Amino acid sequence: MERITSSQQAISLEDQYGAHNYHPLPVVLSRGEGVFLWDVEGKRYYDFLSAYSAVNQGHCHPRIKNAMIEQVGKLTLTSRAFYNDMLGPFEKYITEYFGFDMVLPMNTGAEGVETALKLARKWGYERKGVTENTAKIIVAENNFHGRTTTIISFSNDANARKSFGPFTDGFIRIPYNDIPALKKALEIEGVVGFLIEPIQGEAGVYTPAEDYLRKAKEACSAQNVLFIADEIQTGIARTGSLLAVCGNCTCEGHCEQQETYTKPDILILGKAISGGFYPVSAVLADRNIMEVIKPGQHGSTFGGNPLGATVAMTALEVVRDEKLAQNARRLGKIFRARMQKVADTYPIAKLVRGKGLLNAVVINDTPESSTAWDICMKLAENGLLAKPTHGNIIRFAPPLVMTEEQLHECCDIIEKVISSFN
Ligand SMILES: *Cc1c(COP(=O)(O)O)cnc(C)c1O
Repeated sequence: MERITSSQQAISLEDQYGAHNYHPLPVVLSRGEGVFLWDVEGKRYYDFLSAYSAVNQGHCHPRIKNAMIEQVGKLTLTSRAFYNDMLGPFEKYITEYFGFDMVLPMNTGAEGVETALKLARKWGYERKGVTENTAKIIVAENNFHGRTTTIISFSNDANARKSFGPFTDGFIRIPYNDIPALKKALEIEGVVGFLIEPIQGEAGVYTPAEDYLRKAKEACSAQNVLFIADEIQTGIARTGSLLAVCGNCTCEGHCEQQETYTKPDILILGKAISGGFYPVSAVLADRNIMEVIKPGQHGSTFGGNPLGATVAMTALEVVRDEKLAQNARRLGKIFRARMQKVADTYPIAKLVRGKGLLNAVVINDTPESSTAWDICMKLAENGLLAKPTHGNIIRFAPPLVMTEEQLHECCDIIEKVISSFN
């Protein structure tokens, strides 16, 4: 293997030998610890992306690392042709943690979404009595649920869809954060599910009205339609509570405080469920829904393997023991207050929005302009890594193990860089 001694060398290799399906910032990372990343030249950065919220627990968390190393030396993969001694304990742990009867473990987020779609359709035919092959699932405009052919079938991102057809049928797209539109769509014959991101992360951190999720769930329940929450990015403490559907509930684990918690019929988790160590995703539901899937009807060679189960269980323990939801909630308020001041002072920053430590600053320029990219390049130069989304939006989502002092230092960097663009 060619040994990497400079960033330029690593970039050239990726450029020559790798598919160009991403457009990364020109930073080559070789080490991470907590909220920090280091590039191959040894420069240190604050991470404000957290691998799209997969490393909420911080990079290379020692407790998850040790659990993983221990399990690697014992057993990694059996397939589900046999039982293994970690899957059952993991399934009990995660279902109790989130308050559901059953779980179906997969690997990537997109697989979790695919699983939820299949589950909802099958439930629709076998429990709701929908005519075979006519089920419909309602989705939101500007959704992001992954990259499989079925998932991009109901995306409205032209770049994600162009030349990848033909697409999968059976989806109805309605505006986000629009209850009347949802109620109208729910009247359509054959609707079995409503798939929603509690906050639209990839679209640019769009937070719906405070009561949107609760009203959406009520509307779904009234029509016997499954409310399916994709919390792959918003879940696991990111938005200042265990799940975004917890609303403003601040408790450490699962609870059912009725006034704040909107319980999904199907909950999809991924990303931070394993703290960035290993791809794990999970679909949670109660028994009456999950039991429509029988042996041989769905699966994955790696899904539910003992290594993934161990890593995910430990990563969830860390979230609870280190009170990461509370920290995200507290630091998020400080971050938005400081960024609001920046937006009030410098016209180049238009507005700040978000919840917990999932936030975005909208840059006052067209989506086609390079301003947000240029700001991110300058932030990197100043030791902070963030990535633009949709041209003029910068998402700020650090690991949740950040301290208040570190957050203030980061806000100073962001303020300094934004002021220099004015
Ligand atoms: C990242 C993400 C996915 C897809 O997860 P992958 O692991 O990349 O397949 C799905 N939904 C949401 C909301 C996401 O943020």
